[in-house]
Amino acid sequence: MVIALSSEHEPIRPCGDRLRTHFLTRGDAGPVGRWFRVDEATNLAWVQAITRGAGYPTARFKDQIAIGFVKPISGAYIALTFAPDLSDRAREARIPTVAAWFVTNDGVHPVAVDIEPDQLGVARLHPKWPVDILQQKNVTVVGTGSIGSAAAHALALSGVGTLNLVDPDRLLSHNLVRHTSSPRHVGKKKVDALKIEIEALRPDTRVVPYPINAITAANRMRELLQSTDIVLCASDGVASRRTTGHLARRAGKVAVLACVLEDGALGEILRLRPWPDHGCLTCRRDELRERGSIDPEPALNLPYGEGTQHRPMTAVGSDLQLVGQHAAKATVATLLEAAGIPDQRLPGEHMLLALRPTPDWPTPFDLRRASEIRWLPATPPKPGCPTCEQT
Ligand SMILES: [Zn+2]
Repeated sequence: MVIALSSEHEPIRPCGDRLRTHFLTRGDAGPVGRWFRVDEATNLAWVQAITRGAGYPTARFKDQIAIGFVKPISGAYIALTFAPDLSDRAREARIPTVAAWFVTNDGVHPVAVDIEPDQLGVARLHPKWPVDILQQKNVTVVGTGSIGSAAAHALALSGVGTLNLVDPDRLLSHNLVRHTSSPRHVGKKKVDALKIEIEALRPDTRVVPYPINAITAANRMRELLQSTDIVLCASDGVASRRTTGHLARRAGKVAVLACVLEDGALGEILRLRPWPDHGCLTCRRDELRERGSIDPEPALNLPYGEGTQHRPMTAVGSDLQLVGQHAAKATVATLLEAAGIPDQRLPGEHMLLALRPTPDWPTPFDLRRASEIRWLPATPPKPGCPTCEQT
């Protein structure tokens, strides 16, 4: 790896600042390679040599180097040949500006070389993907367990500029079998571990950790929601889902709720829009029950703090992360549709995804095959609902 270089009698200057943490930068520091300015014929010879899988005599290489060739005194060195003045024909033929060689007294051999592009990160996806819109967006993720952590990674990978992560829990050893985080972070708050991991992978995304409980710190949540564009709730507590949906609606923000039902049999994504004809989570469950279905969250109407938890612990991590990915997709699609990008319209407001289907469940939960997806429309608010009726 080139971490510093000099030219003629100039002092050695560091380069590639971003790569300081790269594994190849460990070891003895000292000049180990050389670079030579060449014309395109040398780098054409590199293309031919690497295609043949064979080098050629050092004497021929020496003839190609106009100035500064040095014999490999200590046996061998790596040389870069830099051909900055490529002709149009050479560019069309994909002759590289920089080529690499292993130089010995017996011959030179072509070496594969990777050149870091001028532009890195999500900017490389522009204009095929609307990174300029997503970089401006602020998404709050409530619950950073197996589903929420996968969703947060996927949101960053989509190019979302700011992620607020809300979860009071610490990463524990038994979480590792399903969570995205590494064992090295056991004992840290999940939101702090995710900040380190996501920002290392996706430097275009800023992660702001909030190690708070969405129910007991509802005042801080209200404040946070003012500056957020959309909420993704992947909390497994029924009360926490209801509270987050309620706070988002009052803040006029869309909430995307993700969970698994029936011990991981089904994944569910509910998009709750704060619109007069779209009911909240409780109204949605009531409506389905009145139509003869079941309530997969029967504890929803209990007072805060008394609700049961979903039991995602019975599901395999890959299924939970798949639900998280779908939730991130629904969240990003909602933001982009609102920004006027028509190919991001979702088929409905309520998605059911069969993971390990239970076909005898009443409709709409009666999916029959693994990976089957069903989308349903929203249902209206119920009269008297304290969440849906604005005060
Ligand atoms: Zn409601």
